[in-house]
Amino acid sequence: MWPCLVHTIALSLAGKSSKEEPTMSKVCTICGKKPSFGNNRSHSMRATPRRWDPNVQKIRIVVDGTPVRAYVCAKCLKAHKVQKAV
Ligand SMILES: [Zn+2]
Repeated sequence: MWPCLVHTIALSLAGKSSKEEPTMSKVCTICGKKPSFGNNRSHSMRATPRRWDPNVQKIRIVVDGTPVRAYVCAKCLKAHKVQKAV
């Protein structure tokens, strides 16, 4: 799983990803978690569009021994799915 994951990260960071756009903010580089959309509902049930952003942090991680900047969600950080560059 690791080499594949590293490959995916390296590709997405290089902006060479075939089907996805280059690095987007508010999207986790590791698990792909992204904002979800819905409505605020007032007491009168008026709908106002809103969005829920994942807790994404812009951090430096180690990919193939090289530190790179990436957007990683707090869940992936806590689960030690990335190695933070010190
Ligand atoms: Zn994540």
